[in-house]
Amino acid sequence: MTLVPLPAFADNYIWMLQDGSNAIVVDPGDARPVLDALASGKLQLAAILVTHHHADHTGGVAELRAATGAAVWGPRHERIPEPYAPLVQGDRAEALGLRFEVIDVPGHTAGHIAYFLPAAEGRAPLLFCGDTLFSGGCGRLFEGTPAQMLASLDALAALPGDTRVCCAHEYTLSNLRFAQAVEPGNTDLTQYRAHCESLRAQGGAHCESLRAQGEPTLPSQLALERRINPFLRSREATVLRAVRAHAELSPDAGEADVFAALRQWKNDFR
Ligand code: ZN
Ligand code: FE
Repeated sequence: MTLVPLPAFADNYIWMLQDGSNAIVVDPGDARPVLDALASGKLQLAAILVTHHHADHTGGVAELRAATGAAVWGPRHERIPEPYAPLVQGDRAEALGLRFEVIDVPGHTAGHIAYFLPAAEGRAPLLFCGDTLFSGGCGRLFEGTPAQMLASLDALAALPGDTRVCCAHEYTLSNLRFAQAVEPGNTDLTQYRAHCESLRAQGGAHCESLRAQGEPTLPSQLALERRINPFLRSREATVLRAVRAHAELSPDAGEADVFAALRQWKNDFR
C-alpha cells in the first residue's frame, strides 16, 4: 500500500492510498489531479473518503463518482454530494481490505470526522484528519466551539505516537512561525522548523506543481506534533504562560478559555 499526497489548488493535499491496481482518495476537492494519478498509475478508484463539507474537500466527489463508480463515505451530520454512506464516531469504512475507524472531531465544522487506520504488518497507523489537525496548527473554528475543538484534538492526540498525520493543507511553515512565537524555547520546534524549511526549499522531482512549491512537509507524526504543536500543548506551562502574557484571561479561566485565546492569537498573528 502506497500513500501519496496529490497537490490541489494552492495548498490542499488529496491523499491517495493505492495498492498497485486500486486506490482510495481522501477529500478530493478537485477531480483533475485524482483522474491524472489514476490514469498514470493505471489504477481503479475504489473509494472516496470525505472528512467535512467544505468545497475544497468535496468539489471533485460527484465527477469522480460518475467517472469511476467509486463508493463515497462521509460525515452523517454534514451535507456531502449524495449518494454517500454516512458515518459517525465508532463506525468503520471498509475499502481495499482496509478498515478505517471514524472519529468525530467537531470544531472546524460541526460534523467533521477523521479516519484512523490502525497499524498493519509493515505499515504505521495513518490518520486522515482533514482540517482539524495541521502540522504545527489546527483548523479555524468556523462552526464549532473552542471546547469542542479542544476535545477533538485531545481525541486525536491520544492515538499512537507513530501515527502518520495526513493533513489536508500545506500550512506547516506559517503554523511553525506562530508556534515559535508561542514557545521560542522549544528546541524540538526549532529543529523541526529548519527541517520543514529545507523540505520546502527542495524541488520535487515527481510532480510538476510540487517542483515550484517544494517537497510536502506531510505526513507528520503524532509524537512529534505532541512536542511541537501549540494546539496540542495548551495545558503545558510554557504555552499557558505565553497565552496569559498575550491575552487578558481571568484567573479562573478554564482549559477551553486558554485554548480559545490561543486560537484567537493565531487568527490575529501576522
Ligand atoms: Zn475546511
Ligand atoms: Fe480545507
